[in-house]
Amino acid sequence: MRKIVHFIAGKDFEDSSENTASVFAPNTGDVQAEVSLANASTLAYAIETAQAAQVEWAATNPQRRARVMFKFKELVEANRDRLAALLSSEHGKVLVDAQGDIQRGLEVIEFACGIPHAQKGEYTEGAGPGIDVYSMRQALGVVAGITPFNFPAMIPMWMFGVAIACGNAFILKPSERDPSVPVELAKLMIEAGLPAGVLNVVHGNKEVVDGILDHQTIKAVSFVGSSDIANYVYERGARAGKRVQAMGGAKNHGIVMPDADLDQVVTDLVGAAYGSAGERCMALPVVVPVGDETAEKLKAKLIPAIKDIMVSHSEDPNAHYGPVVTAAHKERVEGYIDLCIEEGAELVYDGRTSQIPSDSQGYFIGPTFFDHVTKDMRSYQEEIFGPVLQMVRAKDFNEAVNLASDHQYGNGVAMYTRNGHAAREFAQRVNVGMVGINVPIPVPVAYHTFGGWKRSAFGDTNQHGMEGVKFWTKVKTITQRWPDGSDTNDNAFVIPTMG
Ligand code: NAD
Repeated sequence: MRKIVHFIAGKDFEDSSENTASVFAPNTGDVQAEVSLANASTLAYAIETAQAAQVEWAATNPQRRARVMFKFKELVEANRDRLAALLSSEHGKVLVDAQGDIQRGLEVIEFACGIPHAQKGEYTEGAGPGIDVYSMRQALGVVAGITPFNFPAMIPMWMFGVAIACGNAFILKPSERDPSVPVELAKLMIEAGLPAGVLNVVHGNKEVVDGILDHQTIKAVSFVGSSDIANYVYERGARAGKRVQAMGGAKNHGIVMPDADLDQVVTDLVGAAYGSAGERCMALPVVVPVGDETAEKLKAKLIPAIKDIMVSHSEDPNAHYGPVVTAAHKERVEGYIDLCIEEGAELVYDGRTSQIPSDSQGYFIGPTFFDHVTKDMRSYQEEIFGPVLQMVRAKDFNEAVNLASDHQYGNGVAMYTRNGHAAREFAQRVNVGMVGINVPIPVPVAYHTFGGWKRSAFGDTNQHGMEGVKFWTKVKTITQRWPDGSDTNDNAFVIPTMG
């Protein structure tokens, strides 16, 4: 049985802990590896190693730090097919989608290549008589990232790409469900010239997360995962005096106005609702047609498109999507399908019985579609995170905006229309962090910033872009003068006002 171990001080590290977790092959239902779960002394060793390496790394000039990022990008590109196959085998997303997971992470690395520019401070000459003011953005020290299973390449790169470029040393605690790619990325960072100890990978579950949150040497924690745990991480980390950003779950709405191009909507919607088996925090699991006429027309076009979806092994080049990540997750998603039926929605298309490869014990769920879902249903209020699309009909624009705005989650939202005025009004009013206008999955590019609102994110600073640089650095502001001895200050007891 393959064993996945920690990666500390630039090397594989096997600790004395007997604790392991099984890593499944979602295509077949087999166990394909065991991942070590760290004990407290392994975490302490990783933190000490990071602390020792960080000082020199922060003192390395920013062009040199950037050069490691340039080289890392080349190495990931050279290894992309191998990494995508490994990612797909543990996660279950199809190969082209696994390539996309890597690509979206690499785009943050490209942003991090510009760190000499992004991290430089500000300067005001002559802020007062003979006084100049300048600021610098300094690294925090040792920082950590805790990542979910659904983007095992992109989300670690969101975090360590920017944090390390800024001069921090990093402890990555990846999801124990698909931990191999994060380790491979850390190895490539070392091959790219990163000093040993600046990026360490420690596997584990709640025990290690708690250890990270409580440890005084770790100055900041970035978390992405489900909302209850994000909330917990935010509170516990903040109580220990850390900076914490904690991204949570989602239930994104796609609003379809009567004037929308419905063929475009259907193409975008099936991809955004069912792609990656719905296991994306920016998926579109709720569609909100405005008016019954729009709903009927859309439904008529959606049904054949859903029937055409091909669910198969993640290496099958014809597959649109593969299995969900684990048997437990399959059971959870199917539980929500049962609940939605019990709550009285119309099950238009049942994915539990259709389009599933018959030759496999893998964790497959076919595309499922409900109509007449209403906002009082628990299956609507909660995140399902599977290939299930729920249609909630709205009578007008206001009702549609309010549905998205009032939902407990506020990660992303999309609106389809040909009316620029309505689109502008929607973008201004909706109480959600990332908005797509005729764009189904509005994940912002790396030099902008990613983050939802309400229970989709705790803390006040987003991932990547300049928000990321701010999160991973602290600002120091220097006010200086070099008097020549001729100045007299008659008002030394008065708060300085710069004249
Ligand atoms: P998860 O919350 O189960 O796990 C996330 C991380 O927390 C993992 O590293 C896990 O080991 C750790 N963890 C698990 N239980 C813990 C506990 N009790 N205490 C402390 N740490 C614990 O999430 P997941 O199932 O891996 O990922 C899917 C979730 O992530 C979905 O809710 C999805 O919407 C969300 N997500 C959000 C974003 C975003 O940016 N908002 C992006 C991707 C995924």
